[in-house]
Amino acid sequence: MQRNAIHPTTMNLIILDRDGVINEDSDAFVKSPDEWAPIPGSLEAIARLHQAGYRVVIATNQSGVGRGMFDLETLNLIHRKMYRMVQESGGSIDAVFFCPDVDEANLYRKPNPGMLLEIGRRLKRDLQGVPVVGDSVRDIRAARAASARPFLVRTGKGAATLAREAESCANVLVFDDLAAVANYLLNSARTMAESCSCPPFKPPPNPSI
Ligand SMILES: [Mg+2]
Repeated sequence: MQRNAIHPTTMNLIILDRDGVINEDSDAFVKSPDEWAPIPGSLEAIARLHQAGYRVVIATNQSGVGRGMFDLETLNLIHRKMYRMVQESGGSIDAVFFCPDVDEANLYRKPNPGMLLEIGRRLKRDLQGVPVVGDSVRDIRAARAASARPFLVRTGKGAATLAREAESCANVLVFDDLAAVANYLLNSARTMAESCSCPPFKPPPNPSI
């Protein structure tokens, strides 16, 4: 018998881009643990989502590896710092998927949907409606191509994306930051639970014979 089994179609899942969503972005790339600095409120947002039952998975292009700017060992050290800081905030990251390749034709490199589709396959979760939070058009396009639901945050490159790529952002939900995304998702869940609550059961009157 399976305990704590998560139903494959109803498990709450959120997929996050990393740079510009969880941590401050840098045009010079985040190349070391010291350069990895969380955006205020993002760790707490992950914690709240985790505590509300969301599985939190990260999908991040890391072409700095392919460009020779830092190696996989360093990337692992950066992620170890991220895991630790998320845990210290009461949260948990279920997995980090990354694509170190520079080649835009790589199906796993966003805006291609391969990385997101792989997450869906591994977690046995249909991505329909799954929030994919990013700060760039790459994230939006990947989410759409994977039939997920793109969310844009204004942090990182988000404000510039919104200003320069308004057409690509059409019909995308836009939030100030990851904390606002968490507020939205958790308040929506509460509203849905309230609207689904049934009135107390009243037995029907005895049928007349
Ligand atoms: Mg980003």
